[in-house]
Amino acid sequence: MGLNTQSVGNNENLIIELFESKVLVVEDQPLNVLLLKRILSNHCKVESVESGEAAIKWCENHTPDLILLDIVMDGMGGIETCKYLKSLPEISNVPIIFITSSHENEDTCWDVGGVDFIQKPFTKKTVFNRVKTHLTIKLQRDKLTNLVFLDSLTGVFNRRYFDTHIEKVALNAKRMNEDYALIFIDIDFFKQFNDIYGHLEGDKALKIVAQTIQKTLKRPRDVVIRFGGEEFVIVLPSTDLEGSILVTEDVIKNISALNIPHSGSNFKHLTVSAGIATLRGLKGETEILKVADDKLYISKQLGRNRLSY
Ligand code: GH3
Ligand code: MG
Ligand code: MG
Ligand code: MG
Repeated sequence: MGLNTQSVGNNENLIIELFESKVLVVEDQPLNVLLLKRILSNHCKVESVESGEAAIKWCENHTPDLILLDIVMDGMGGIETCKYLKSLPEISNVPIIFITSSHENEDTCWDVGGVDFIQKPFTKKTVFNRVKTHLTIKLQRDKLTNLVFLDSLTGVFNRRYFDTHIEKVALNAKRMNEDYALIFIDIDFFKQFNDIYGHLEGDKALKIVAQTIQKTLKRPRDVVIRFGGEEFVIVLPSTDLEGSILVTEDVIKNISALNIPHSGSNFKHLTVSAGIATLRGLKGETEILKVADDKLYISKQLGRNRLSY
């Protein structure tokens, strides 16, 4: 992603971005949901759920840009819901605005990570302006984060992102007593590809391979990182060996199916090799990386265009 200086301070772009952003309303009173939707849905995408439990479930499959969270609800209350959501790596940076009916909870709202609150009964202007302000900050922060953490050639995450990401994934796996998988992917005979077709074609192929890996990953928490030249790492949280083999088989198959001609390869088209390691039985991030790398080496030794675990 390049820095488009023309877009800096451009209000029109901001409106378009706000329009594309997702707000999750967590509120048990249908009338309030209706009012909030009426105020916001001309400016951004609004989804709603009726309880804290439903919000947590929703966030397993989606990442909103902002959450409007009612405090008093049956079952899990807003405070407890916020605490839980903030502990999820994908949600921890999402601004949460509380909807409160009294001043009693104000301090607790800040303590659990709320970014602001809106008092009931709310006015149209206040809801709109609070949401707009925090969405704008969130979207601009996302842009900066992308500049720092995305690889400019392929558009997937870069090595710098990997270092902070793997720490979070490892910590979460430990806390939830879950497995996670790390997969090394390396393009086969890529030096020859450059030699035969030129560096520019090589760059194009790298980009397509990265995006194909990205598209193959189905869960929002799965990520692909360009680890080095023509090497990628896939991190699959809450995934065991069996699951990661299926994903890796799909990656290898989908890249092969691109049918990018490569006369210097034994397969006559571009392929990748993979090495899989999962946390189970290993000591931590350093060991899992090393095992995945060792397995990749085995795939290369065995003839490439395959996976090892
Ligand atoms: P193997 O099947 O054993 O992986 O062989 P290989 O040729 O792919 O492996 P090697 O590590 O020897 O070469 C990697 C090559 O990847 C070197 C370089 O030409 C190419 N490469 C690395 N980064 C880039 C890049 O950003 N753009 C392009 N076009 N090529 C790159
Ligand atoms: Mg309520
Ligand atoms: Mg390599
Ligand atoms: Mg290679």
